[in-house]
Amino acid sequence: MYRDAYVKVNLDSLKYNINYFQKRVNKTIIAIIKANAYGTGQKIIYETLKEEGINFFGVSSLEEAIMLRNDGCDDEILILGYVDPKNINIVKKYNLNISLVSLEHLNEIIKYDCDGLKVHIKIDTGMNRIGLKSFDDFKKAIDISNKNNIKLEGVFTHFACSDKNYEYKTKEQYEIFKDFVTRANYDFKYIHCANSDESLRLKEDFSNTCRVGISLYGFNSYTNELKNVISLICKIDNIKIIGKGESVSYGAEYVASGDEIIATLPIGYADGWNRNNSGREVYVENNRAVIVGKICMDQLMVRLDKMVPLKTTVELFGDNLSIEKVARENNTISYEIISSLSDRLTRVYYKDNKYFKNYNPRLNMEE
Ligand SMILES: *Cc1c(COP(=O)(O)O)cnc(C)c1O
Repeated sequence: MYRDAYVKVNLDSLKYNINYFQKRVNKTIIAIIKANAYGTGQKIIYETLKEEGINFFGVSSLEEAIMLRNDGCDDEILILGYVDPKNINIVKKYNLNISLVSLEHLNEIIKYDCDGLKVHIKIDTGMNRIGLKSFDDFKKAIDISNKNNIKLEGVFTHFACSDKNYEYKTKEQYEIFKDFVTRANYDFKYIHCANSDESLRLKEDFSNTCRVGISLYGFNSYTNELKNVISLICKIDNIKIIGKGESVSYGAEYVASGDEIIATLPIGYADGWNRNNSGREVYVENNRAVIVGKICMDQLMVRLDKMVPLKTTVELFGDNLSIEKVARENNTISYEIISSLSDRLTRVYYKDNKYFKNYNPRLNMEE
């Protein structure tokens, strides 16, 4: 590893979390590992989940699906986003499942060689993003698919408000979904609607499959029983003492009120640690310290209460400081914080309570 800034990924906690879902949810689990497994590194997350018995994976795009095949995945893969019909030959070559996003989409697909193409029909029950909105379109999609030898493997929808109360919107969406699928009376192998949150909340056995993403890393709205997987860690590369009246970083807006110990960390906003985090606490081993001055592109400064050796470990978030708290204070959600961690940060994996291996995304190098 070349840089003292990395994303620490605890594979024991990942296993704990997936086992929790396996015990609690009596359905096929599609592990959603889009966006580089929410920033944690697709390949090793895939391999770990596979070891735990997961054999269906979801990604966002054709590109991510091919990456996952290149990483050695020979399991079922569903692409959740739109796939351009001109790439249908590639979809078939890699044996992928695609989402049907509209009737227009299907009418384009059938201009290509779609014999045997594996499709999950997406029903839009209220998210108003992708999917078929009317029962009529849904029915037509089934008929056209059958005429063209498309394999209708699944049907699904996506909830807009899984973190709000059930009556707010989920109930209505669930009922539309159930009604469409019941009336269509077609034998879909995979029927799915729930994401992580709804997998924990919805008590129903109409669907036989669920899509679990964020909770793999410990986050959800309904239980405290999951474990944190991800920590953002740096080591101190430089320490200096500044005197009263001296400033720190661009704009010279932070001014020391007396002698202060300033430590520099090799991480900045180009790593996904945005400038709003100035003023935030961090943990220097188990002691609180605070980020002072503007966060730079590649570095930031922390004020320490007492001198520590160079290379002391600092946690920006993780087991001491929850990502959800950081997210709330940044007016965002855990998903955005973790999936924005850039490819400059090496992913360091721990397994069986000890260092396992690391992956440098930029050099595409595992060691
Ligand atoms: C990302 C995504 C999921 C996973 O949602 P989580 O809240 O992370 O569990 C499920 N379904 C679709 C369609 C998605 O885009």
